Amino acid sequence: MNWGKVGFDPGHYAGANAGPNGYYEGNAMLKLGLLLKQKGFYITREDGRDITLMERVRRAKAAGCDTLVSLHTDWIPPDNPKSTEGTMVIYSFNKPEDREPAEYIGKEIAKALGIKFRGLYTRRSTTDPSQDYYGILRHGVNYGLKHVFIVEHCNHAQLAYNTDAKIQEIANCYERIFKGGSKVFNDFDKVSSWAKDAVRKVKEAGIMMGDEKGNFNPQKPVTREELAVVISRILKL
Ligand SMILES: [Zn+2]
Repeated sequence: MNWGKVGFDPGHYAGANAGPNGYYEGNAMLKLGLLLKQKGFYITREDGRDITLMERVRRAKAAGCDTLVSLHTDWIPPDNPKSTEGTMVIYSFNKPEDREPAEYIGKEIAKALGIKFRGLYTRRSTTDPSQDYYGILRHGVNYGLKHVFIVEHCNHAQLAYNTDAKIQEIANCYERIFKGGSKVFNDFDKVSSWAKDAVRKVKEAGIMMGDEKGNFNPQKPVTREELAVVISRILKL
C-alpha cells in the first residue's frame, strides 16, 4: 500500500460529544491527533476551536497529504448501547479500492485496543446520491485526496477509562500501519494490505529475506531453489 503523505483529522472541537466518566470525543481525539503530530504526521487542527469540515480537508490538501484519516469515537445509542462497541471504518463509495485498506486499518486498530472489529460502512448522500453522505469523505474526494477514511475507534464508553494509555496504543498502531512498513523491504508498499502482516513476520523470522537489493518482489513467482531454501529455514535444517 502506498499511502503517500498521511494526515489525521481530529474530528470535533473541544467539548463535543460527551461520554461517561467526563469523556469528550472532541478532547480525546485532539489529544490523539497531537500524539500523532509528535510522530511526524500532519494534523488538520492543533487546538479545540471549531473548524469546518471543508476547511480541515482543504488544509490537509494544502499540506500535501495523499491520505487523510478522520479520528472519532462513536455515540452510545440508548436503546442498543452494545451496537457501537468495536472498531468501524467508513470509506467513500466513490473509492471502492479503499475498501481493502479500510478493513486493514480497522482490524489493526481493533487488535491494538483488544476489542472487536465491527466492520466497514459507506453511505451515499440522500440529497445527491453521486456524493458521499459524510462531509470528510465528500470533500476529500472532491479535493482529490487519494485515500480518505473515517475511523470510529470504539464507542465513547470504551475510551472513557484509561483514556491516555489507550490513545497511546492507537497512536503506536497508526505509526506501525503508516510508517513501520517501509523498513521491511524497499518495495513493501507494493505488498497487498492483506499480506503485509505475513510478509513482515517471515522477514522477521528469517524465512524470506528478499533479494540482494532489499526487494521482496511480491508478485514474482517462486522457483524450486527458493522454495527449498524457504522450507529448509522453516524446518531449521
Ligand atoms: Zn465523531
